[in-house]
Amino acid sequence: MSVDVAPLSTRPAPARGPLEGATPDARPTLAVWKFASCDGCQLTLLNCEAELLALADRVQVAYFPEATRAVVAGPYDVSLVEGSITTAEDAERIQQVRAQSGTLVTIGACATAGGIQALRNLADVGELAAAVYPRPDQLAYLARSTPIASHVTVDVQLYGCPIDRGQLLEVLAAVLAGRAPRLPSGSVCAECKRRGTVCVAVADGLACLGPVTRAGCGALCPAHHRGCYGCFGPQDTPNGRSLATVLGEGGMAAVDVERAFRTFATGAEAFRAATAPPIATGASPTDAAAGHGGRP
Ligand code: SF4
Ligand code: SF4
Repeated sequence: MSVDVAPLSTRPAPARGPLEGATPDARPTLAVWKFASCDGCQLTLLNCEAELLALADRVQVAYFPEATRAVVAGPYDVSLVEGSITTAEDAERIQQVRAQSGTLVTIGACATAGGIQALRNLADVGELAAAVYPRPDQLAYLARSTPIASHVTVDVQLYGCPIDRGQLLEVLAAVLAGRAPRLPSGSVCAECKRRGTVCVAVADGLACLGPVTRAGCGALCPAHHRGCYGCFGPQDTPNGRSLATVLGEGGMAAVDVERAFRTFATGAEAFRAATAPPIATGASPTDAAAGHGGRP
């Protein structure tokens, strides 16, 4: 999978065209686009509440169908893109979004890794369609669900299912200030240590993808005594194979280890490679161990 993420400073905003249907406005323009997704990451923006009012003073919300029918014609200074590419039409539309966007920010596991819908990448999507729909011949879809960066250059990626509200505000503030956003690197494990959460894997024997998952959520699930599901996708230097082996040695069945890595970021190559080929264990499959904080 090719991933093309540009440094923020290398991509100038496209020249502003005349603003159709609205009073010319000196504020930078913001557009929010949806592809294959559940809208949860867009809701994170709407849930910013008090900060959203402050943001509205600084930027003109020019295109955001989830929030308003009012549309200001592009180009746009900042585009937030939610969702993955799953149809030929969307593969064309993302090119148009890129062409009229200054800074393009992908938001969420769908946009950055293909989302849960990338499970189709591991199967025959025609067979799945035939099993679900009475008239699969009427469907138009691509065989794979792919992240936005597989199609166009992306300037900033925000991970998670859904994204973290604090990270979203940091990126928008950074773009407005013309600086690089301060986003954490490293793993969820480091966040557990920073907030003083006792390790759920070591202390309680729960299956947890924290060691290989990108930081950014504040170690939300371990703080509530759950193993990490990996919704932020792989960290920069993950050792997924090693974690998969440890989970297997702890008594988790191979199929359960595989399922643990195949959820929100199943399209991420590092998570796919963790269990390909499958690890060898002698344990039987269980429902409880399938990546949701169960005991291996
Ligand atoms: S990343 Fe999760 S919350 Fe965001 S659109 Fe996709 S499924 Fe919804
Ligand atoms: S702990 Fe893991 S699954 Fe839970 S929110 Fe954070 S990254 Fe997502």
